[in-house]
Amino acid sequence: MKAARIVKPKEPLQIEDLPVPRPRGKQVLVRVLASGVCHSDLHLWEGGYAGPRDMFMRVEDRGVRFPLTPGHEVAGIVEEVGDEVVNTGKGEKVLVYPWIGDGACPACTVGEENLCDRPRSLGIFQDGGYAEYILVPSERYLIKIDGQEPEQVASLACSGLTAYTALKNSSIRAQEFLVIVGAGGLGLIGVQIARAIAGSTIAVIDLDDKRLEEARRLGADHIINSSRSDPVKEVKDLTNGLGADAVIDFVNSSKTVAKDLDMLRKRGRLVLVGLFGGSTELNLALMPLRAYRIIGSYTGKYADLVELVALARRGMIRSVIGKRFRLEEVNDALTQLKEGKIMGRAVLNP
Ligand code: NAD
Repeated sequence: MKAARIVKPKEPLQIEDLPVPRPRGKQVLVRVLASGVCHSDLHLWEGGYAGPRDMFMRVEDRGVRFPLTPGHEVAGIVEEVGDEVVNTGKGEKVLVYPWIGDGACPACTVGEENLCDRPRSLGIFQDGGYAEYILVPSERYLIKIDGQEPEQVASLACSGLTAYTALKNSSIRAQEFLVIVGAGGLGLIGVQIARAIAGSTIAVIDLDDKRLEEARRLGADHIINSSRSDPVKEVKDLTNGLGADAVIDFVNSSKTVAKDLDMLRKRGRLVLVGLFGGSTELNLALMPLRAYRIIGSYTGKYADLVELVALARRGMIRSVIGKRFRLEEVNDALTQLKEGKIMGRAVLNP
């Protein structure tokens, strides 16, 4: 089978010809129909994240091994199952839950495998979906998507699920004011989920007018281009000088977080999601005085992905697919994402 692999960070991905894996025991082999291209794949390709004081946090120090087939937003058709698989059969359309844990740590035992102490996520710590086939360790990581478009559903496994979890972590309520920073793959689905489940007033901040207009079309009440105006002043003006009840930062860089803190209302929640990275200075006395909460939020749990697929089935959320690429065009897809040329998500159709 063909697989697009990161052999070495920063070098072009290589299309390799690998043996098609044979599923054994509980394993399921899925033929990939759609594989979303996430900004996190760019961080993998770059080999890490920006840390504090110009430090670079290498993914290899966090357990990633190259060569690696990335791709954690995968939908496809079951091709073959191991002999212990009971409820899944060849030909079924499925979405893959990629945030696999060891099944034994405290997070896994309460169904939060995405927060496992020893994660084995597909497309990050094991081969993922930038390939014709993906081997899934168990049918319990599959969600049936009969009647749904695979490329519509694929991105729910990360961009949708991450935004959904971030919203839950923000504890946002209908009467409150929510700010979403970043109108990319995560932000554009985040606006729709906020609309569907929270009902709060939503303001979206980005640097790009086209993305902001798309955010407005999808349900944002206010849009703010932070390259032209001061987002703190804009949010304060929109909230009678009080500030936002919650800010979800899908960028999470030194530049954005400093502003997030300044636009937060007393009792405000700041949810950090993006991996652009860097560091920020905290005014420590203000944290208790204004009862702020800062929460890191990472992907989401299987049960929430099941809910999201149901929301998508009822047409309440729709992935924004900016461009489609063949597997051979993977380097082009990643480069265009890096250069900000993709609206919403790019999808590979192997
Ligand atoms: P994307 O490239 O599709 O979108 C990023 C958006 O941020 C773009 O619209 C861009 O214009 C905007 N942006 C960049 N810098 C900005 C700034 N200074 N101010 C305002 N807007 C700015 O990326 P994505 O796929 O949406 O992912 C966003 C980030 O979230 C990435 O770092 C990704 O790795 C990370 N991520 C985190 C999780 C998690 O579980 N925590 C999961 C998936 C992705």
